Amino acid sequence: MAIDKYPTPMLDQLEEGPWPSFITGIKRLRDQHPDQRINEMTASLLGQLEHSYETRKGYWKGGTVSVYGYGGGIIPRFSEVGNAFPESREFHTLRVQPPAGNHYSTAMLRQLADSWEKHGSGLVTFHGQTGNIMFIGTSTDGTQHFFDEINDYGWDLGGAGPCVRTAMSCVGAARCEMSCTNEQKGHRLLVNNFTDDVHRPALPYKFKFKVSGCPNDCQNAIERADFAVIGTWRDDMKVNQEEIKGYVAKKGRQYIIDNVITRCPTNALSLNDDDTLAVNNRDCVRCMHCLNVMPKALGVGDDKGVTILIGGKRTLKIGDLMGTVVVPFKKLESEEDWESMVELAEEIIDFWAENALEHERCGEMIERIGLVNFLEGIDVEVDPNMVSNPRECSYVRMDGWDDEAVKWFDRQAEAS
Ligand code: SF4
Repeated sequence: MAIDKYPTPMLDQLEEGPWPSFITGIKRLRDQHPDQRINEMTASLLGQLEHSYETRKGYWKGGTVSVYGYGGGIIPRFSEVGNAFPESREFHTLRVQPPAGNHYSTAMLRQLADSWEKHGSGLVTFHGQTGNIMFIGTSTDGTQHFFDEINDYGWDLGGAGPCVRTAMSCVGAARCEMSCTNEQKGHRLLVNNFTDDVHRPALPYKFKFKVSGCPNDCQNAIERADFAVIGTWRDDMKVNQEEIKGYVAKKGRQYIIDNVITRCPTNALSLNDDDTLAVNNRDCVRCMHCLNVMPKALGVGDDKGVTILIGGKRTLKIGDLMGTVVVPFKKLESEEDWESMVELAEEIIDFWAENALEHERCGEMIERIGLVNFLEGIDVEVDPNMVSNPRECSYVRMDGWDDEAVKWFDRQAEAS
């Protein structure tokens, strides 16, 4: 039996720690799965991993594997020690796009699991860092068969390589009272519009969309997305004074002062003598702290929309970048509103594709060419409400030094 063929004394030690071990999960497939092919594949996988631990070397190499009509979405993995571990000689990963907001039904999950057990190793990650469902471990043939099957019932591969990547959106209004926009609609519109750019890598580097319904930003869109859409509101937050009094009665005045009032980063809150709350909404920077601590008493306002930030990314050439506010507030109500958001994304991707160096993220390009040139390139007027980092000062000087700010004042005067 394959299990005896590949002993794993070093990997066994990983199961002894206090945390659940991925080794235990793989062993379950090796020892308990009814399909012998999966038992052997995972035993061989563990054998190679043990060998890697012994020799302190990785033995997976890349290559080119793809399904018909697609240029990306599969991470090829060929073993350099395939002769010693033949059952897992090819162990490719398929990236599959999750539904917007990760709203799965159990029937969908069973369908996917059944197809994967038929054509792959049974190993799945929900979700990888990219947001995709990662189906880990199949042969080159299995890749096509699995894709054909799941594509028939509506799933599509995600992005890999220099392309528009799989987008992510938070669970949204279905389960969260802080939601300020239709996250799933934004997600689907953006992804559907750029499907070609997901499947055929032809851009300077990766480009990610993420949609968060409120400034809590559960998708980490500010840090991780080249194009971050984050729900917000521009009128006053809602305050239920009776509920505030209830919190004060339950927790005590000092507790509320220590844990809510003094923690507001802009001192926008104060507790009145009669245990009601005063909010200076003009100073609130939507950090969400008070709303998160007292969700029954405080709520987002009625005038909802989104902020769009460009250029967030993790470490690479110039270190981590947070997204820069390019659209301070945008209503997304009519179909034209949604369309104009997609058009802005098109404009930005076109400009970036034409002007970025190879392997340069959008944020890195903005750093190199300057924000003013970027804004001019995508035809967006400078607005003093743009901020370079969330909850910080405008990067537009308001004292007349900056011509663009003067133009903004002129436009405001004309409009009023
Ligand atoms: Fe202050 Fe943050 Fe509450 Fe706004 S959301 S009032 S900034 S604590």
